Amino acid sequence: MNKLSRRPARRRFTAMVAIALAPLLVVAGVAWAAATDNMFPTSHTGGACIAGMNGSAPCQTDNKEVYFYMDSAGEYELEAVDKQTVNSAIDGEYRPTDLAFHYDSSPVFSGSGETDIIYQEGSTGLPDSAAGMTWCDAVGGDVRDCDQQYIRIRGNGYITYARVCHETGHAVGLQHGDLASPQLNKHTDTRLGCLLTPSDGHPDLGANNRENINATY
Ligand SMILES: [Zn+2]
Repeated sequence: MNKLSRRPARRRFTAMVAIALAPLLVVAGVAWAAATDNMFPTSHTGGACIAGMNGSAPCQTDNKEVYFYMDSAGEYELEAVDKQTVNSAIDGEYRPTDLAFHYDSSPVFSGSGETDIIYQEGSTGLPDSAAGMTWCDAVGGDVRDCDQQYIRIRGNGYITYARVCHETGHAVGLQHGDLASPQLNKHTDTRLGCLLTPSDGHPDLGANNRENINATY
């Protein structure tokens, strides 16, 4: 009598646990869909965004509304063809993500609400080995984010679709494979898409980077 009454009770308990776990498994499925976590901060970067050309690993931008400007005068001005390449890479690789890119024709360079990304053409301060570089000029209100990121790429043909994809990825917090968790070979693992180094021949953002962006913003 006791045995008979306990058995069904145990089955009901098992069924309740299974139902309770199901939503957790769905959430974990989304989080683990990416091949690697290469969004700042990872277990291989510092935890806080540090400004400057020799600052921290690339930081996050402060939110999903990304305002960008392309230098249109002076030392770091982009030529029309280079502006077209920047726009093509943003349209092709970043507009399909959860980020919303907006061109800011009246950029803000100080105070709060600075324009998020400033694209420049030039080589000042770049290491000899680098075609381009992204750095944070002003940290944001959160330890992991940056209020204003600079992207500087050399002139004379260096501004390519793949390089714009690569540097724009850094400007929203994506890392090379050696700073990802788990680490991936930063030169050869094609799951890194255009975040491969060098990015030549790898113009696509790719599923891993998209999933990291969409899980963050
Ligand atoms: Zn890079």
